[in-house]
Amino acid sequence: MNGKISRQGRQVLAVLSEQRIHLTAEEIVRRLPDVGQATVYRSLEQLERMGQIRKLNLGQRSAYYEYARENHMHFVCERCRQVIDVACDVTGVAREAGALFGHRVDRVGVTAGGLCAACIAQEKKEQQ
Ligand SMILES: [Zn+2]
Ligand SMILES: [Zn+2]
Repeated sequence: MNGKISRQGRQVLAVLSEQRIHLTAEEIVRRLPDVGQATVYRSLEQLERMGQIRKLNLGQRSAYYEYARENHMHFVCERCRQVIDVACDVTGVAREAGALFGHRVDRVGVTAGGLCAACIAQEKKEQQ
């Protein structure tokens, strides 16, 4: 496999790196109307293998993709399904725990669930 990112791959990467966003493959396809769906999926796979992006399985129907950034955990709102980054580095702890048992930790993912601030406000309004 070559290490060069294709033109379409760069477009996919640009969508994800622009903002701190988490998008499903379908959402990325919708944002890149002139790149075919199969090409977007292929680019996502390639970029993930290259470590440029991360694929997140947050217990939802589709996986989310994000630009590979410093360690953080994810907070998923159970009402609006918004995925929010929370700065938090638990990599060291996980590595140490892994090393203790002879494992090699390559990926660490922490997901918290609950209600986002906007949804709490919305719920309060509905209860009135
Ligand atoms: Zn919410
Ligand atoms: Zn994230």
